[in-house]
Amino acid sequence: MDLEKNKTNVLQEISKVAQEAGRSPEDINIIAVTKYVDLNTTKEMIALGIKHIGENRVDKFLTKYETLANEPIVWHFIGSLQRRKVKEIINKIDYFHALDSLNLAKEIQKRAEHPIKCFLQVNISGEESKHGFSLAEIDHVLSALTDCDKIIIVGLMTMAPIDASDEELTHIFKTANELRLTLKNRKLKNMPLTDLSMGMSRDYKIAIQNGSTYVRIGTAFFS
Ligand SMILES: *Cc1c(COP(=O)(O)O)cnc(C)c1O
Repeated sequence: MDLEKNKTNVLQEISKVAQEAGRSPEDINIIAVTKYVDLNTTKEMIALGIKHIGENRVDKFLTKYETLANEPIVWHFIGSLQRRKVKEIINKIDYFHALDSLNLAKEIQKRAEHPIKCFLQVNISGEESKHGFSLAEIDHVLSALTDCDKIIIVGLMTMAPIDASDEELTHIFKTANELRLTLKNRKLKNMPLTDLSMGMSRDYKIAIQNGSTYVRIGTAFFS
């Protein structure tokens, strides 16, 4: 694994795709998903200039968080989070990408010591194995969240099925962006909805073409 080469390739590709889509590369935040790699590789990534780090397991996050406390890292928790583990991490992370149930929201509201930037996870494909609210649930969810002053809905997060075609990916990511805009225009309290967390190693290009502002990339960096 040539970390530096992988990093250069991914950043160049993202820059190119953004420009082709008429977007500024600076508007795309690149999260290195370090769940596959150890502490040293994570450190190397930071030394290469990556500042957004994403983890999906509480224990691994905590180890890295504690060891890398002096590094200028923006921490993203991208995996589904069990209610009972909320208190262990919620005041340490900068962004939570997988708000996928109202019970979880209630727990965050209870444990957070300051407002937490969250992405509402939406299941656009309707795939059963995927977490996230269905489109039919969104209205109810937003009204339930208006009482939660510790939760800032910065945007929507979505994941596409592994075997989705380019057409399906375009449909899913475009729908997420349209939904985001519709909800943003309601100007609800604590719901700026300026961002979209979508795109992984295999589908970040189509995600960027459709407005993604946070891509979560693991394999393309670490293989
Ligand atoms: C692992 C993971 C990623 C990164 O996936 P790659 O395909 O390795 O780029 C992105 N988002 C979530 C939620 C993940 O769990």
